[in-house]
Amino acid sequence: MELEEQVGKILAYGEICDHCLGRFFGKRSHGLTNAERGNGLRVAHALRENIPYRPHEGPCWICHDLFPGIGAWAERVAGALEGIEHATFLIGTRVPPLMAESEELVWSDLGLEGPEPLKSEVNREVGKAVAAITGKAADLSRPEVVAILDLAGCTVEVEISPLFFRGRYRKLERGIPQTRWPCRACHGAGCERCGFTGKMYADSVEELIGRTAVEEFRAGDAILHGAGREDIDARMLGTGRPFVMELVSPRRRTVDLGALEEAVNRSAAGRVGVTIEGWSTRREVETLKSEKAHKKYRISVEVEGGIARNELEEALDRLRGAVVFQRTPARVVHRRADRIRERRVVDARVAGQEDGRFFLDVVGEAGLYVKELVSGDGGRTRPSLAGILGRPARVIGLDVLEVEGRKERE
Ligand SMILES: [Zn+2]
Ligand SMILES: [Zn+2]
Repeated sequence: MELEEQVGKILAYGEICDHCLGRFFGKRSHGLTNAERGNGLRVAHALRENIPYRPHEGPCWICHDLFPGIGAWAERVAGALEGIEHATFLIGTRVPPLMAESEELVWSDLGLEGPEPLKSEVNREVGKAVAAITGKAADLSRPEVVAILDLAGCTVEVEISPLFFRGRYRKLERGIPQTRWPCRACHGAGCERCGFTGKMYADSVEELIGRTAVEEFRAGDAILHGAGREDIDARMLGTGRPFVMELVSPRRRTVDLGALEEAVNRSAAGRVGVTIEGWSTRREVETLKSEKAHKKYRISVEVEGGIARNELEEALDRLRGAVVFQRTPARVVHRRADRIRERRVVDARVAGQEDGRFFLDVVGEAGLYVKELVSGDGGRTRPSLAGILGRPARVIGLDVLEVEGRKERE
């Protein structure tokens, strides 16, 4: 079907605006707006048919004359973005199904090859108008905010892109979980058992760092992604554990990370300490999660009936370098699948002695269950210190001294 014939058929469907008419041929020619295309086609049609030229007199059967309202939509967007710090933005549009169906009907009826959808013209035109009002740049790939126009509801929703920073934390106090732990009884709703907090523990490393970060970034939430995690009753000492903090819906983006580090360390003093290393990305969260870092633990061990240092050292000689087979520990098997894990003990040696107890330094592959390495977990972990000694042994205290992270980052 030739262009002239297609235009004649489109005009016969019903009253249509220049934008919608032009958009059906949106990929033809360059340097024209859809409205210019549409008006040109309307003029050409009148000349060819030798009929009186008549400009569009609404309402358009496809868009219901949406385009004269572009300026008002841009004002709505600018209003919704007020108070949200951003350098770049993107417009998205939720088109009512009936509007989309109307234009799609024409595409398929006439077999049009290069039409532009209504949604993309609205996004572009409102985007240009918003840029003119706010002075901010549209960014199609990584916008800091996205404004979504709901054409039917006449409303604008704003989605703020998250921000990420990375660092290392040290947990100086026992009994703090790494992340929020919802109450087992009420699953976060709040009940008598949890004192209506919805949580098993009043604080977490996530909150001790996140509370200050949420304030500084005026964010909706802060989510901690750690490179592994230590047990609640273990401290995280030494150089600290690498983490990435995700700020959800931050209304401020230009926060001084050095000042933030100081503020966190002041407010979490004695419980958690952080070093903030710089900005991060979603991608880095994934790398962090998949990293298989070795971990170094300092544990204090009690052996039933006491033990001589040389006997302990001989036992550790046999564990050093050994591959340990560990069934999911009895203490967590109620909430995790019962599997067998193979992990290597990279190093194990006596670090000190006090009141008949020994301190051991153990370096293990990521995921090694250290408490079970000592106790044997009723035979679920083999080999184990208790198994080698032939009598019960257990961990009295456990600290993480080091989590190997990548030293260099691109
Ligand atoms: Zn229209
Ligand atoms: Zn509860």
